[in-house]
Amino acid sequence: MLADPRGQSVRPSRRCNTTIARMLSRSGVIAARSIWLVQQKAALSTSSVRNKSYELVVVGGGAGGCATAAKFSSKLGKGKVAVIEPADMHYYQPMWTLVGGGMKTLENSGKPMSKVLPKKADWIKQRVVSFDPANNKVMTDDGQEINYQYLVVALGLQLNYSKIKGLPEAFETPGVGSNYSPLYVNKTFESLKNFKQGNAIFTFPATPIKCAGAPQKIMYIADEYFRKNGKRDKANILFNTSLGVIFGVKKYAEVLWEVVKERDLTVNLRHNLVEVKPDSREAVFQNLDKPEEFKTFEYEMLHVTPPMSTPDVLNQCAALVDGAGYLNVKKETMQHVDFPNVFGIGDCTSLPTSKTAAAVAGQVGVLRKNLGAVMAGKTPESLYDGYTSCPLVTGYSKCILAEFDYDGNPLETFPINQAKERRTMFHLKKDFMPDMYWLGLLNGYWEGPKYMRKAMHLGLK
Ligand code: FAD
Repeated sequence: MLADPRGQSVRPSRRCNTTIARMLSRSGVIAARSIWLVQQKAALSTSSVRNKSYELVVVGGGAGGCATAAKFSSKLGKGKVAVIEPADMHYYQPMWTLVGGGMKTLENSGKPMSKVLPKKADWIKQRVVSFDPANNKVMTDDGQEINYQYLVVALGLQLNYSKIKGLPEAFETPGVGSNYSPLYVNKTFESLKNFKQGNAIFTFPATPIKCAGAPQKIMYIADEYFRKNGKRDKANILFNTSLGVIFGVKKYAEVLWEVVKERDLTVNLRHNLVEVKPDSREAVFQNLDKPEEFKTFEYEMLHVTPPMSTPDVLNQCAALVDGAGYLNVKKETMQHVDFPNVFGIGDCTSLPTSKTAAAVAGQVGVLRKNLGAVMAGKTPESLYDGYTSCPLVTGYSKCILAEFDYDGNPLETFPINQAKERRTMFHLKKDFMPDMYWLGLLNGYWEGPKYMRKAMHLGLK
């Protein structure tokens, strides 16, 4: 999922091929055309043996893809559903916050993909390199053409670390980590352990990201770690965020402002990380309100949340995406706006909610009903309310369980004030949620807490 920045804007309209688009911009039209011809010839020569057809193709075997494949392969039967997913390992990414804080290991957070994808679905262990929605097919990087009757796109988000100047090199040096990648998450805890004195800086980029709480959760964990280890008086802790608020939902933001005040944490709003200078251990931030202004901070520790986008193969497919590069689906039904046989789930979609695995759980039931309806020739009628959740871990034993809908209205499961820091919510996050993910969500059983919430509130919410 790590990727280089896109640097071009060529968008073949009918068929969306990343390789072709890159070459058009880099080496010129003639070179690209000749290679395109070679590609087409190669594809044609192998097409008779390499074409496959499925009733449903799921692109991406992460949280959303795996759950979708589990649901529909059990409904449609063996051999009817394919999942296209190149990764060997499936990670429970929400655990990486705890890995960065030394509470869990990276190994605890992953399982082989072969163990989590449903047995009744065919796993095509390849990367999708182009979509052809007008002709109901996708191409994989080994030249296979996979035809479908229905398509679910669940490609997640791409981490664009290299959009920050000097950052790839900085990851090679001590003190720089990122909970967002299995490559760098262990460096976060190393940085905490090796911290001596100076600035500990936590960043939030100027793009939508997955789990918008994670960039600050690790700051609260660091604060408690430094206190427990006698280093807090030597640490100046800063949250430099591109946002103009500490958190998007007022009810939880108010409590978080109290937490940062009480723990002497500095929040710098509208600060966007643009460069890291590992030799001088400096991080450069742009003032988003005065873009000509840049401010340099020295760091002893730097935790970077990278800019993110949908994977290039998707954002370069003009037929499928909105202006911002997200799979263009209807907000309520999750059906594509132009292709009724295409649905989306999870982080790569245009659904205007906070991107989390909890949101995926809230979407799975809607997708089950709506895609099922379309397969049966009916109109999709189930409506997604934008349910999402962010367990805002605020240390080694406390958590605020934020849950809310499209409009930022709290949609809390328990009949207590969830904006309060609580030990019970911390254990829910640390000890209970991983099983809900592995056993419930990925097997297609967990569709979010809607019915539990209703029961807990005596049917009133
Ligand atoms: P993913 O699970 O990321 O899956 C996308 C899949 O697509 C991947 O398996 C990838 O290999 C595959 N793929 C990519 N490109 C291609 C291609 N070209 N062809 C085929 N396959 C491809 N969520 C919560 O609910 N609570 C939390 O507390 C929480 N904390 C988080 C903390 C961190 C540090 C991180 C990183 C995430 C956190 N999340 C949390 C967010 C959660 O993990 C994601 O929102 C969730 O995984 C999204 O599911 P998805 O299926 O959309 O994408």
